[in-house]
Amino acid sequence: MRCRFCEKPAFIKLHYPRMYLCPEHFTEYFERKVKRTIERYKLIGPGERILVVVSGGKDSAVTAHVLKKLGYDIECLHINLGIGEYSEKSEEYAKRQCEALGVPLHIVRVKELLGHGIGEVRTRRPTCSYCGLTKRYIFNKFAYDNGFDAVATGHNLDDEASFIFANLMNWNTQYLAKQGPVTPEQFNGKLVKKIKPLYELTEREVVAYALANGIEYHIEECPHAVGATTIEYKGILNDMEEKRPGTKINFVKGYLRKKHLFEAELQEKELRECEVCGMPSSGEVCSFCRFWRMEKALDFSLRRK
Ligand SMILES: [Zn+2]
Ligand SMILES: [Zn+2]
Repeated sequence: MRCRFCEKPAFIKLHYPRMYLCPEHFTEYFERKVKRTIERYKLIGPGERILVVVSGGKDSAVTAHVLKKLGYDIECLHINLGIGEYSEKSEEYAKRQCEALGVPLHIVRVKELLGHGIGEVRTRRPTCSYCGLTKRYIFNKFAYDNGFDAVATGHNLDDEASFIFANLMNWNTQYLAKQGPVTPEQFNGKLVKKIKPLYELTEREVVAYALANGIEYHIEECPHAVGATTIEYKGILNDMEEKRPGTKINFVKGYLRKKHLFEAELQEKELRECEVCGMPSSGEVCSFCRFWRMEKALDFSLRRK
């Protein structure tokens, strides 16, 4: 089969919309779609500085690559989680990706910062739960301390669809009220705006983009994520997508149209300043400072050159 727009052999068959594309025309299609997502959901305003959180994996690498190519002002942050060799390899990939892109990379190492890596803490809390909490706190605080206007993550359509699906199955209406391609800043900017530029692109398309553009990435999944139920939900959605192309995007767009139903039920906890770090918290001490038993605030400010 040949590309729909030129004579070259097809590199990928898209199912929705149905078409065959060569690497160049697929790249063009992909980047146009990201640009449209940014405009449609107003993810990035003029002159805004964006911090891209790069894990070493494909989604965040592609996010950084496309934002840079579209001309946005980006820097990257890698959080080394301290999960043995998995984290060392992830950091290597993040470094290589940013070098290839010519984008500044900042690195925060959890073990050096907090004394223990993820998975080394004695707690009843599930590992993925405090890992998520730790990552979210660090990238938000890093962005806040350094004056970034937004934090970009690599969440793709499959991530979003499976997240919504899983939360519907459990009727977690509180979570369902708060998902979307953009989370506006809150609490005088102490909760920095979060954006998801790959919101409308499937995992398969992200993999194809990385391949077409020679982006190297860490393929391995985090050892703690093995057996996570979100992987099962992704499988179910992929089966449905196969039978009915467009299932995922229509599901997610339908959710965005009906989100106000969940918002009506939202019980927003009043936020106040954490007594330890001063960041937004629903209790006296924020969950990060409580979990890591912090005695003073972390400061990620980069020294001015
Ligand atoms: Zn072509
Ligand atoms: Zn705190």
